[in-house]
Amino acid sequence: LIYYTTKLKHYNMEILIFAETDDKGNLKKDAYEIASYASEISSENGGNVNALCFNASNAESLSNYGVDKIINSKNEELKNFDPSNYSKCITEVFNNEECNLLVLSSSSNSKHIGGILSVLIDASYVTNVISKLTNGEKMTVVRNTFTNKAFETVEIIKNKIILAISKNSFGLKEKPVKSEVVEINFNIPESRNKVKSIDRATNKVTIADADIVVSGGRGLKGPENWHLVENLAEVLGGATACSKPVSDLGWRPHGEHVGQTGKPVSSNLYIAIGISGAIQHLAGVNSSKVKVVINTDPEAPFFKAADYGIVGDAFEVVPKLIDKLKEFKAVND
Ligand code: FAD
Repeated sequence: LIYYTTKLKHYNMEILIFAETDDKGNLKKDAYEIASYASEISSENGGNVNALCFNASNAESLSNYGVDKIINSKNEELKNFDPSNYSKCITEVFNNEECNLLVLSSSSNSKHIGGILSVLIDASYVTNVISKLTNGEKMTVVRNTFTNKAFETVEIIKNKIILAISKNSFGLKEKPVKSEVVEINFNIPESRNKVKSIDRATNKVTIADADIVVSGGRGLKGPENWHLVENLAEVLGGATACSKPVSDLGWRPHGEHVGQTGKPVSSNLYIAIGISGAIQHLAGVNSSKVKVVINTDPEAPFFKAADYGIVGDAFEVVPKLIDKLKEFKAVND
């Protein structure tokens, strides 16, 4: 009887992922991560994985991550983020494909539309998800909360579900499949707002998307020394960031400030140079995978949160690190 009860409650998962693109139309790394997540859920529960992308130039690449059906729109109107039109199109595909699970990334755009979608679809919506969905008597997922200091287990109440997956919590799992690729043309109403132009502050990798972030604090003494952070970031192909006082002092732009009141970082590698590791700063980097700290003070709190630490003067350590990395790259490239 118990077996049957469980079986009856066991949902077949028809999944839609919303696969985001960058400004050049290439799928973001997050798109492959949520495809990997969805593909594992579907292998365990049955059902198909569908992906929706807008104007993606490399949509077919999702077939390497277990996506059965790739739906790519070519609508010019969807080139710029528009919450109401994005939500409308995603809802349309979700309903047409008779899905019961929508998987989003944790990008700011996806989080923005998640709330709208949960109303349009009438779904349970859980953000910052770090576990697979248990599918049985009760459906639950685990999410990060309190700036990644606590885990919360959430029970899904509705039959339809939206999960926003925390960046880097699952990684990429290749699973090549034969996918059906479909082009779709949405009927899109006129936008409520029109984007007239986008002026990017920089062409460099953004903190939110970066796999590697090199961050500097007040220990670097002044903006004239930021070439150390920039050069290290450049040789590693990463983004630059800073602590709050650094941006408050005007040494760096506010967009680079990491922490409780700044940007969260979920990179694979976070290098903190001359940053003490105050709790408000750590709140923004808790979900980064590997943390490396360079600090003259062996008692700096950041060392307790670090995976690797160098007790030393940044002005001596960082140039040596850059040289060694350049040597390494020259041999290995
Ligand atoms: P400091 O605390 O001055 O530390 C500098 C470090 O550099 C020291 O550990 C020192 O040993 C080391 N150092 C000095 N010289 C060298 C050298 N030559 N080589 C290597 N190391 C050296 N802060 C944030 O970052 N993000 C936030 O979001 C944030 N939000 C806040 C919100 C509130 C409500 C409050 C009250 C504070 C907030 N803060 C935030 C500020 C936070 O409390 C700290 O003051 C701040 O993070 C300290 O910045 P820092 O580590 O760069 O500077």
